[in-house]
Amino acid sequence: MSWPAIRGHAAVWQLFLNAVQQNRLGQAYLLVGPEGIGKKRLAYALAQALLCPQPPALLTACNRCPACAQVAAATHPDLLVLRTPAGKQELPVAAMREFCAHLALTPVRGSRKIGIVEDADDFNDESANAFLKTLEEPPPGTLLLLVATSTDRLLPTILSRCQVVRCAALSEADLIAILEQHGIGDAPQRSRLARLAGGSAARAVALADPAFATFRRQLLEGLLSPRPDFRSLAALWTQFHDEAGKDSAAQRTRAALVLQMLIDTLRHALKLSLGATVSDLEAAELLRLKAFAERLGTARLMELLEQCLQADHYVERRVQLILVVEAIVAQFTANRVPPGP
Ligand SMILES: [Zn+2]
Repeated sequence: MSWPAIRGHAAVWQLFLNAVQQNRLGQAYLLVGPEGIGKKRLAYALAQALLCPQPPALLTACNRCPACAQVAAATHPDLLVLRTPAGKQELPVAAMREFCAHLALTPVRGSRKIGIVEDADDFNDESANAFLKTLEEPPPGTLLLLVATSTDRLLPTILSRCQVVRCAALSEADLIAILEQHGIGDAPQRSRLARLAGGSAARAVALADPAFATFRRQLLEGLLSPRPDFRSLAALWTQFHDEAGKDSAAQRTRAALVLQMLIDTLRHALKLSLGATVSDLEAAELLRLKAFAERLGTARLMELLEQCLQADHYVERRVQLILVVEAIVAQFTANRVPPGP
């Protein structure tokens, strides 16, 4: 999808436009921002605008020529893409070496080659080190675009060689427009999803999935019941996780959704336990939640909430997700602290 059809990120686009106008386009950029907000789309749109042989304006792809179509399909000979293989958690060093070797070849069509590292979160030490030379001194005419959700896990040696471009979460209006483009829901449902999605389009779309609604109901019923069964709940979560397929971004989106759901639930329970009212809940769910809040008590609820917030941080840092959520389910079902005298 080419610019300006991409929602949000006008400031980022302006930054690149200024750089091109002033002939100051750098050679390596790190696009960093939350999951599911369109950073990859942005990288591909930039590649399209820079590789289109007949751009109607500066940094604007025609979006009609074969080159534009090839960039969109990641088959353009001067566009190289590096991503984490399906089912893997890290960028393998062999793939990185191949990526760098191809970048070193002369461009096939124009004067430019573009390399997109889709999963810059997934470098291991080896693949990061194999990248350093290319990153430090990219072949002439090369533009490197790295995409990451956070700068935390990147080696300082990688970080210091990139211009860091922060991409912000999407506004609710942008999310509503994206859901509408996907033909998802009616207007009230789209507003609700946009409110819950925390600025992530991927999350908004995943939330709209009926499979998630079913899973949510089953998991909450289980967790809030007087005697939660860890095994069946862990199995339920594992199944939901596996249904996302081997794509690690889809798995992360699902894990983040589940944790957000638990965090919201605990916040509601805390409110109830402090005597406040909670709107937006179905009557049956409200009853279950009240009983749950009474059983656990404020202190225990706060403890669980703290653990979920901590786990959410791990999801962003890409710790093995299935373990993170399993640990949380275990916390929910652990022996409860008896109520005080
Ligand atoms: Zn074109």
